[in-house]
Amino acid sequence: MRIDLSKRLKALPPYLFVEIDKAVKDAIARGKDLIDLGIGDPDTPTPRYIIEAMNKALEDKANHRYALDQGLPELREQIAAWYKARFGVLLDPEREVLPLLGSKEGIAHIPLAFINPGDSALVPDPCYPPYRSGVIFAGGEIITMPLKEENGFLPAIDELKQKDAKRAKLIYLNSPNNPTSAVAEVDFFDGIVQFAQKNDLIVCHDGAYSEISYDGYRPKSFLEAEGAKEVGVEFHSLSKTFNMTGWRVGFVCGNRDVVAALAKVKANIDSGIFTAIQRAAIVALSSGDKHVREMQSLYQGRRDVLLNGLNKLGMHIPQPPKASFYVWVSVPKGSDSSSFAKRIIDEADLVVTPGIGFGKYGEGYIRIALTVDENRLKEAIDRLKKII
Ligand SMILES: *Cc1c(COP(=O)(O)O)cnc(C)c1O
Repeated sequence: MRIDLSKRLKALPPYLFVEIDKAVKDAIARGKDLIDLGIGDPDTPTPRYIIEAMNKALEDKANHRYALDQGLPELREQIAAWYKARFGVLLDPEREVLPLLGSKEGIAHIPLAFINPGDSALVPDPCYPPYRSGVIFAGGEIITMPLKEENGFLPAIDELKQKDAKRAKLIYLNSPNNPTSAVAEVDFFDGIVQFAQKNDLIVCHDGAYSEISYDGYRPKSFLEAEGAKEVGVEFHSLSKTFNMTGWRVGFVCGNRDVVAALAKVKANIDSGIFTAIQRAAIVALSSGDKHVREMQSLYQGRRDVLLNGLNKLGMHIPQPPKASFYVWVSVPKGSDSSSFAKRIIDEADLVVTPGIGFGKYGEGYIRIALTVDENRLKEAIDRLKKII
């Protein structure tokens, strides 16, 4: 029998890492001690108090049954309380908050609520890949917003063609940004609200890295902009904030009609988040910022070691990160991101992510993740020294 893939699967961008994956496999087969700076996944465990809350919740049989689609009311209230404390943003827990099975799930599903085949969405390039695949799965067309060094890696909405702005139905934004680490301030978001109002655009802002920041800097929420709730929503996640990537819990907040539409899509696909995980998420979000401060100082130490080392090697870092756990580094002249990444694996036993994997405008850069400890980062710099 011939198994024919759907057009939507065939329409996904090609997988560009075949050669790199092979180089990693070969290095492992040769018994090399690889340092993996490619993964955007915290290496430290979920804080103890969250695991204890989970253990307790597991023992309660009331938590073993199907969860409520819209999430526990106590979790939605806790999310609203967290937003108020963190950003000064008021949310109606009943209608403006929806827990998700990790934010990726909501990010990838939201186009199903608004995009018809042939509609389009504005997507930054480079970007976190689910923005693109979500639009493609809904049959939509992608209008690229290049993130360029000269614009501080923020999308330049005034450079978009008027007709592209008009025909788009939805726009994805992400600050602090993966992969570039760029951050948007409230005046940027104010401009986005006006742009969205003028063009009838639904704004989907991804704030997954809002709690990972340096030097006391506090990233802003899109919902801090005046009128933001009229035009869009913001996605958040416990994954990076609480080292809970495997747990699958996040949330979306903001415009009630947008939240309700995504809830309707989800009610037809999943059956909510395991209630024990929701109970643990309530404990995480209500725990104050001791853990967050410790995590920030952990990543800050690593960032400083890496920036220092890369600077000494003469590598160009267009924008040292104020937030996120990524460093976006220019590839040396005469090389492209894939061949440079492959060379680093082969000659230095180091894995980094080539910028091209995040989109065409990621070419010329590599992404280095701060998800290994300081000693390993120092070792990584020593290894780079030998080949650069
Ligand atoms: C890691 C990440 C997320 C979080 O994904 P979850 O599904 O919540 O684990 C969201 N957006 C970006 C840009 C990320 O890098």
